[in-house]
Amino acid sequence: MRRKIKLATLESLRRAGVFEFVANSLWRRKRLLILCYHGISLDDEHLWRPQLYMPAELLGKRLEMLRAMCCSVLPLGEALARLHSRDLPPRSVAITFDDGTYDFYKQAYPLLRKYDVPVTVYQTTYYADHEMPVFNLICSYMLWKRRDGQLVETREFGLSEPVDLGTEAGRHRVVRGLIDLSARENLNGQQKNELAGRLAANLGLDYAQFAAERILQLMNAQELAEVGRNGIDLQLHSHRHRTPDEEAAFRREIAENRDRIRALTGREAIHFCYPSGVYRKEFAGWLEKEAVVSATTCDVGLVDRRDNPYLLPRFVDASGRSQLEFESWLSGVGSLLALRRAAPQRYTLPDD
Ligand SMILES: [Zn+2]
Repeated sequence: MRRKIKLATLESLRRAGVFEFVANSLWRRKRLLILCYHGISLDDEHLWRPQLYMPAELLGKRLEMLRAMCCSVLPLGEALARLHSRDLPPRSVAITFDDGTYDFYKQAYPLLRKYDVPVTVYQTTYYADHEMPVFNLICSYMLWKRRDGQLVETREFGLSEPVDLGTEAGRHRVVRGLIDLSARENLNGQQKNELAGRLAANLGLDYAQFAAERILQLMNAQELAEVGRNGIDLQLHSHRHRTPDEEAAFRREIAENRDRIRALTGREAIHFCYPSGVYRKEFAGWLEKEAVVSATTCDVGLVDRRDNPYLLPRFVDASGRSQLEFESWLSGVGSLLALRRAAPQRYTLPDD
């Protein structure tokens, strides 16, 4: 109901010319919109996680809208520099993708090239060296595929009784059990991949087929080198998609991530995005010591010159967002109407 009212309000504001007025205002001119994307579906991932995935067709519509509204799409580093020197062009936007999945390479990258827009990919690197699906995501996806059934044999997956897969809570319990089991038994990446394969067999799914489609995998070294050569800006997202609470371990995650990106592209990464949008106040100082100059969150808002450079808000776009909402954010109206800046923090990718 609240959403219906919100959409109706946006529609009447658009018709009354408020979108256009705000889009051309000095207020909007002083602010930068950073768009955040995660995955572009290879198959039906947007039906599984509408808050993270969208079909390629919808990304195409978003890029059309950016063009139709004459937005100035800038590389992230340039956009932040011009924000601080008060030199932003009208309706400035920077586009970012989190994680650097294979579906980015297969689905988003050709579209982004077609529309000729600069893009930053916050690349997590552990799974880029290991061509296998991200463990907790593939488990969650496979359980969702079997949402009309039950998982009967649960003991080898760390649970004691059958689980109804028809509910999000039931599926989450199995994923949690699998993550706990792999931590308890200290499984490495290969062993976790085998465990996911056994879950697939138990559910009657073809794990080899998922692997062949590269579903829920990251870009490999060759693909990363290719996109890096062709203008995609690869930046930091931690090596194992985690932000340890202890300084030395946190900084190791950044350093290892940066080393991998440098080896692949020959360039020095200096911008960071918090994995899963999770941050703590001491992280800013640790990032500064690692010579990182900016960090983005999943909190919602336009970036203002006075914002803390280590807490930059973004607009998280996915198939759960309507074209009207997207347009409202390009204009700036979406930000004016946003009641809550902090996003609910959630897990997306796991550690290794
Ligand atoms: Zn991430």
